[in-house]
Amino acid sequence: MANLSAWTGLGVNMLTVFSTLMAKLSRRFNMHLTARPRAKRNPDDIDALVLAGLRESAIALSAYQIVDRLCASGNRLTATQAYRTLGRLISQRKVRRIETLSAYVAIDGDFDVVLVCNCCGTLRPLTEPVLKRQIAGLAQAHRFAIDRIALEIVGSCPQCAQSAMA
Ligand SMILES: [Zn+2]
Repeated sequence: MANLSAWTGLGVNMLTVFSTLMAKLSRRFNMHLTARPRAKRNPDDIDALVLAGLRESAIALSAYQIVDRLCASGNRLTATQAYRTLGRLISQRKVRRIETLSAYVAIDGDFDVVLVCNCCGTLRPLTEPVLKRQIAGLAQAHRFAIDRIALEIVGSCPQCAQSAMA
């Protein structure tokens, strides 16, 4: 008898677990069925949104900052979508990653070296083809195959340096 009630107890417990699980599943399923279908954005739309967000910013933005800014303006974006989009924009040479900041900037033309202000976050891209050639020569002398060159000089911009002196 004791055994039977133990089994019955187990049976009841299993039933409770099962019905809770079913309720959860049906809630999820119903939610899925009743959720309003969101207008699907194509990658070009997302690229344009991310690029516009970066262009509006005076400083480089991290992927998460891009996500936050777009979400705040009503454009839902996941971090995965942001990284995928940034990858596309980088390959199209519309965006560059600033390695020292782990952040991204919109670019109009490519640059060889960038001055990064530690204080206000402004960036000053510079074109220095001679420097680029020297680095390429240096790598070649060591039979090193270059994938990419990221030349970033971190410090203080004239304004920040001046206010630090004041
Ligand atoms: Zn500065």
